[in-house]
Amino acid sequence: MPGGDEIAARLNELAASDRFELVVATRDWHPPDHCSFEKQGGPWPVHCVQGTKGAELHPALDFERVDVLFDSGQEPHLEGYSAFERPELGSILREKRVDIVYVAGLATNICVRGTALGALEEGFGVTVDTRASRGIDAEGVVSTADAVDELGRAGATVI
Ligand SMILES: [Zn+2]
Repeated sequence: MPGGDEIAARLNELAASDRFELVVATRDWHPPDHCSFEKQGGPWPVHCVQGTKGAELHPALDFERVDVLFDSGQEPHLEGYSAFERPELGSILREKRVDIVYVAGLATNICVRGTALGALEEGFGVTVDTRASRGIDAEGVVSTADAVDELGRAGATVI
């Protein structure tokens, strides 16, 4: 997506800092008929199909800093915008006694928003780092500015 690669350095910096006990990378990992694709009536062109080049994490990301790789959007009929849509991630974080989830990445108004709201619903404290995130505009989805407002109102710390 436009500008997406601009955040890689900042994400690497965050992942390398000792502020965090656990680094979780989430990736879109869709079946070819995923409900978010235009031909299924969703807002997006085909992207991040399981096992294809487009689903790989960006090569500028430092994978060695990633403790857990979590695949999202695997079920054809679930959007997968939140990494908390399935129960596994919440369980992993509770097991590690995580209390604050720091969210950054792509896209601010879609999966960052979804994941941050999901984390709040599960009772975690949430910080959203907009400097390490980028939004994407599309027909029928919340704008980046509105998403940032919504996250603040929902209780996230937005920086
Ligand atoms: Zn997707």
